[in-house]
Amino acid sequence: MENIVIIGSGCAGLTAAIYAARANLKPVVLDGHEPGGQLSLTTHVENFPGFPEGILGPELIENMRKQAQKFGAEFKAGSITEVDLSKRPFKITAGKDVYQTRALIVASGASARLLELKGERELIGHGVSTCATCDGYFFRGKPIAVVGGGDSAMEEANFLSRYASQVYLIHRRNEFRASKIMIDRARANPKIEFVTPYFVQEIKAPAGLVTGIRIQNTNNASLRDIELDGVFVAIGHIPNSIAFRGKLEMDHNGYLIPRHGSLTGVPGVFIAGDVQDHRYRQAVTAAGSGCMAALDAEKFLEEHKD
Ligand code: NAP
Repeated sequence: MENIVIIGSGCAGLTAAIYAARANLKPVVLDGHEPGGQLSLTTHVENFPGFPEGILGPELIENMRKQAQKFGAEFKAGSITEVDLSKRPFKITAGKDVYQTRALIVASGASARLLELKGERELIGHGVSTCATCDGYFFRGKPIAVVGGGDSAMEEANFLSRYASQVYLIHRRNEFRASKIMIDRARANPKIEFVTPYFVQEIKAPAGLVTGIRIQNTNNASLRDIELDGVFVAIGHIPNSIAFRGKLEMDHNGYLIPRHGSLTGVPGVFIAGDVQDHRYRQAVTAAGSGCMAALDAEKFLEEHKD
């Protein structure tokens, strides 16, 4: 029987693990299908407080992991396949492994949707990004593209226009999902060129760094090549919450809904990080919510010593 099982080993899960381990609760962390979470897919992180020179995403994650281990957190590989939250102790199944736990922290994160182009994943941190706030600064004075037609794409295009010399907003249709106000703002921005209806056919990176894209018109199949240094993919995120469908409260996009900090409708189950946050999605906010979840879980265990 475990005191706390933490699902997810990104910034939120690892921070929860540090706090729970320091409270002597010997948390068990299930790594999940993307160990280290989204930070492990990025390069330089310059906005995490405490690192004036910046730090590499994977290094930051590795440090957090070591810090949690130092205080007694135990890490297990594997992704959850089933959860039973109907009674305590909760039962968590990850393939052949079954865990019984008195408290559960869900920090399973969200995965950025990618275009699924050849080489795209390997180019993350080398010109391809899924996070404008994290990486925009690296493209000062350079042309870039933002792909997508929702609010995220509009927001990122506007944000990136502060740094980039030119922003191509590439969307596969002439109609947008984004709200009118966000579209109007982007259209009024002289640095943003709307390029529709086009989809990205190829990301060019002959030497391992993005140098351009080839896009194709979805109406007449004509091709266009654009030279640029960065491609920001803003086509949505998928919260990793499928195992909790019907068990924890979620919105229509699958994001878990927190109550009073990290609490859920199931006493003893706490949530943290991007699986419950589609708004801020920052490493530091994920870490903060991981801390909250661990403190809430600790208090819960103190009050339920059965
Ligand atoms: P979204 O609204 O689901 O939009 C995703 C966009 O990506 C759509 O335009 C979609 O095109 C496109 N897309 C999806 N898959 C694609 C693919 N494989 N190739 C090319 N394009 C693809 O996602 P989002 O913009 O991340 O927004 C998610 C939610 O957060 C929304 O409810 C949004 O309002 C909210 N949000 C709000 C704010 C704000 O208010 N400040 C900011 C960001 C997000 P199609 O339209 O053709 O399907």
